[in-house]
Amino acid sequence: MTANYSTQFRCIRDEVSAAEWQARLDLAACYRLTDVYGMTDLIYNHITARIPGDEEHLLINLYGLIYKEITASSLVKIDLEGNIIWKPDTDYGINKSGYVIHGAIHRARPELKCVMHTHTRAGMAVSAQKCGLLPMSQTSMRFVGHIGYHDYEGPAIDLAERERLVRDLGPHDAMILRNHGLLTCGATVQQAFNTMYQLELSCRAQVDALAGGQEILLPPQEVLGHTANLYQPGTRRPYGVLEWHAMLRQLDAEQKNSGYPPYWH
Ligand SMILES: [Zn+2]
Repeated sequence: MTANYSTQFRCIRDEVSAAEWQARLDLAACYRLTDVYGMTDLIYNHITARIPGDEEHLLINLYGLIYKEITASSLVKIDLEGNIIWKPDTDYGINKSGYVIHGAIHRARPELKCVMHTHTRAGMAVSAQKCGLLPMSQTSMRFVGHIGYHDYEGPAIDLAERERLVRDLGPHDAMILRNHGLLTCGATVQQAFNTMYQLELSCRAQVDALAGGQEILLPPQEVLGHTANLYQPGTRRPYGVLEWHAMLRQLDAEQKNSGYPPYWH
């Protein structure tokens, strides 16, 4: 018998609550946008989202699909421990060890609806720089005093490391996993994506600037603190919401030239 690795998933829109379907649409779009903006690592990494009104259950990607293939109906419903509650008819499963980081944060920070983790080239580069993320651009200044750092302890995450992970994230929505990659989370999928986009862009700029070999100019501390405050979610407007509809229109437009199923399937 050959394994069923077909990606022709049945649309389950009429079989789940309206809230779950919306969470599936938001999360599937988030995976596609992560691909569009160059933040994927083959089939690896995860973005997880809580299902509203069903706070004990989360959505996660099938392990084995690239982000271009992910659709609303292909997302797996799991509990906080990573046990599968529902998955499509497929031999693909989930990456339980990859979920461990997400599970630790979802358990400790129930107000967060989405956790996102990447292994991008720029993110990995900055994660290995002793200076950490430098507030050298307007984009990176929002993270001053609002980002955690977690030292690398190896690929297998045990119970004790989960506690250190949560401790190192603290109250923040962003964390640099040293020698590993980036992590963001947020009150909505849109916010977690927006924070990741800004963090990624900050890392790309930092790598470019340091590669230029010139001394880096940093603004004074009071300017940094003021700027970081202005860019916190809620200071002026919610994060990532105004941007989201334009990005969905981008996905809609690009779908027309794509051989992949639409994310809304
Ligand atoms: Zn990772």
